[in-house]
Amino acid sequence: MLDMFKKHREIVDSITSLDENEKEYLYSALNIHGHFCGGMPMGYLAGLAAMKALGVTRELSMDKIAIVHVGDHHAGGCFADGFQFATGCTFGKGVMNKEPKGKWSATLVDKKTSKAVTVTVKPEIMQAAFDAPFITKYRINGVPPAEVDPEVSVPAFLGLFSKKPEEIVNIKGPFDYELDKTPSCFNLSFCEVCGDAVAENYLKVENGKKVCLDCAVHKNIK
Ligand SMILES: [Zn+2]
Ligand SMILES: [Zn+2]
Repeated sequence: MLDMFKKHREIVDSITSLDENEKEYLYSALNIHGHFCGGMPMGYLAGLAAMKALGVTRELSMDKIAIVHVGDHHAGGCFADGFQFATGCTFGKGVMNKEPKGKWSATLVDKKTSKAVTVTVKPEIMQAAFDAPFITKYRINGVPPAEVDPEVSVPAFLGLFSKKPEEIVNIKGPFDYELDKTPSCFNLSFCEVCGDAVAENYLKVENGKKVCLDCAVHKNIK
């Protein structure tokens, strides 16, 4: 494992187009993502371009939202991880959502200003990625990304960094973005069937009892 971190460090250190902070976050991203591919660095660069276009810095709290447009059964799902790690809008903080459109695209929203930008990987960059052996020789034949020959996967990863973030994506915006103003629920409650702690806004009442969604009989009826 330590060897893997060392290798990740060496490869990230070889990138000359990123500053020290951007490299450090990319190194963390790579360790967490777990393999070399084209999708994660595309999302990472798209995230950097989105922050620059929106005039914001990486999110440490919950003041920005990332909405990624990759979908399910999508050849570039890794894009979402790159965008998440670059922008700091993580799934766990509740500020990373998916609106699947099957695109290598994401929208970054600044909650403080209600402004947003959408960044979409340029068609020619996508075509080049799909023409490269990472896809044509390995992924399309069912080889998992971590098992692709590093002679192929590392260049697929590094190749993206020969360009500036804004050269990778088309940028739309900044434009006005209407936010969901629903406040967070701080009312703690407990399911009367299983006892699990549940945020009150997720409880249902059935047969006079407060129940969680796991214990509810009528699960899909609000
Ligand atoms: Zn990946
Ligand atoms: Zn329950």
